[in-house]
Amino acid sequence: MPSSVSSNSGSGPVRSAGEGPPLESADAGSTWETAWGLVRFAAGVDPRAFAATVAMALASSLTEGVGLALLLPLLAVAGMNFTGSTAAGRLGAASQRVLADAGVPHWLWLPVVLGVFLATGALRSLLRRTQSMMAYATMTRAELALSRRVYERVVKAQWGFLVRQRAGRLTHLLTEELRRVAEAISLLLSLVNLGCLTLLYLAVALKLSAPMTLLVLVLGGALMLLQRGSLERTRRSGEKLYESVGEVYAATEEHLLNLKSVKTYNNEDRDVQLFGALCDDVARHAAGAASHQATSDSWFEVGSLAALGAVIFLALRVLHVQAATMLLLLAIFTRLMPQLASLQSQVQQVASVLPSYDHVLAIEAECAANTEPEAIESSGGDSAAAAALGLERELRLEDVWFAYQSSQRDREPNFVLRGIDLTIAAGRITAVVGPSGAGKSTIADLANGLLLPTRGRLLLDGRALDPAAMRQWRSRVGYVGQDTVLFHQSVRDNLLWARPEATGEELREALLLAAAGFVYDLPGGLESIAGDRGILLSSGQRQRISLARALLRKPALLILDEATNALDVENEARILDAIRDVVRGQHGALTVLMIAHRASAIRRADCIFELEQGRVVRAGAWEELNLGTRP
Ligand code: ADP
Repeated sequence: MPSSVSSNSGSGPVRSAGEGPPLESADAGSTWETAWGLVRFAAGVDPRAFAATVAMALASSLTEGVGLALLLPLLAVAGMNFTGSTAAGRLGAASQRVLADAGVPHWLWLPVVLGVFLATGALRSLLRRTQSMMAYATMTRAELALSRRVYERVVKAQWGFLVRQRAGRLTHLLTEELRRVAEAISLLLSLVNLGCLTLLYLAVALKLSAPMTLLVLVLGGALMLLQRGSLERTRRSGEKLYESVGEVYAATEEHLLNLKSVKTYNNEDRDVQLFGALCDDVARHAAGAASHQATSDSWFEVGSLAALGAVIFLALRVLHVQAATMLLLLAIFTRLMPQLASLQSQVQQVASVLPSYDHVLAIEAECAANTEPEAIESSGGDSAAAAALGLERELRLEDVWFAYQSSQRDREPNFVLRGIDLTIAAGRITAVVGPSGAGKSTIADLANGLLLPTRGRLLLDGRALDPAAMRQWRSRVGYVGQDTVLFHQSVRDNLLWARPEATGEELREALLLAAAGFVYDLPGGLESIAGDRGILLSSGQRQRISLARALLRKPALLILDEATNALDVENEARILDAIRDVVRGQHGALTVLMIAHRASAIRRADCIFELEQGRVVRAGAWEELNLGTRP
């Protein structure tokens, strides 16, 4: 298990995290294209709320500008002398005139201007608070919409595609990657805010001294251009970081699932070492990403200080800007420069989290390309139509060939089933046996409509079971596999999950038939919480509950895929005898397809198909096949 983890390191982020086909769209677009796409997506979720958030950003920037402009009257009433026809002079004089015209006594000017200054500041912080709440709501809405969309794509993908995914890949997608997309949305929204503010500062500065502001702009622009390479480096280190985080996710899931083997093999230390190596990778890439960002931030800071120095020198020695105007410009530029620096730093952060959006889109596209065929999707699970799909005579696999698509590049399909002809007679128990890897479970997945034959067809009572009927057919099938996972809910809810309208009597009947009457003796009875953190059930007990759940659906076809292998022979015999009685007693209402190894299980079958390397090698009743010597 661990070798599969380490062998992947070094390949592309999407490919390494899963075993699906390579994705063309993984590298699609530059940082800005991706950012623009994400903004369009976030805006599309609720255009009005998005527009309101942006408008609020503008409004809060405007109050910031007004606050800044109020510095002029403040300086003017404080006695600062604005001479000549500069913009600052005109504004200062105008504010004095307004106060005089309003009849405000001279001694009250300072408190009045200070009061207005304070009120604007209070309004600004109120608007900022509202804006940040709106931005948070916009981000959450967009994140939820994307999560739901991606989750739906994943869930609706074909089973044949889902079983090829490496453990942890989809968990990583639906948790960490989506969280980072939300972070990117939030950063982009705050960029809008910062951008508005920067524009406003520039507008005020332009009004005060166009040549100096243009100079600052040229120098600031040159600094940003110099940072372009660093933006790409940050993006790449962001890619590497999340590739390694993806590996840790996948490894965590695999390692936890394999803890039993790890312990049995006394391999804890080696396991910890392998896991630690993956974590080291994450730490190394995180340090790389942080160092790129910090280096770029400090270069920008030094560069902007140098630019400010040059501007002051030119202003005083060449442009001979007035001292009062200079003071104001300095007030603006000393705010503007950190603003530009944080703009720059946020752009870097966006660049480092944006790859996640590319990954999400890429995996989503992959799921979409592997979605259930149109006909299955649109057919829905219409219960009336489903009820009409009976199994009166037989379900027949006719010359069925099947290949799991391992990669789009594969030209020659690797068939795991080769020309299977197999009839599951109604009202009978049919068993499929054979060595492991022979294709038994694949036959079960074809019979329950999860996989579609690559060649050949399935016939239900002589009618072809085409993709349009698959969803209905699935609702007529009860399936019990060997790995039974119960939800972390009560036993009752776990059962009702299969058939919400079932009555208490029906639950009881199904539980007793599945030899799961023990649930009534649990301290909480049917209300006991099953699942991982609930009551500790043995695998045999879980299998019995799972069998009861399948029987509750009153399926036309019950598929038992090694479903009794965790039971002791006695309980297995009880259950299989009970099922045989139902099959025989209910005049064909129940048909069973059983996949089993143990002779004790298959000897109850009416017909047994023996499989080898994807082909039926023998078929017949227990006695005919002379399987009596099997273990
Ligand atoms: P059995 O149930 O008899 O043990 P399976 O039907 O599980 O056999 O598998 C038949 C063959 O298909 C095996 O060679 C196995 O390697 C291959 N196979 C099973 N599942 C997948 C999968 N998800 N992707 C690719 N190959 C698979």
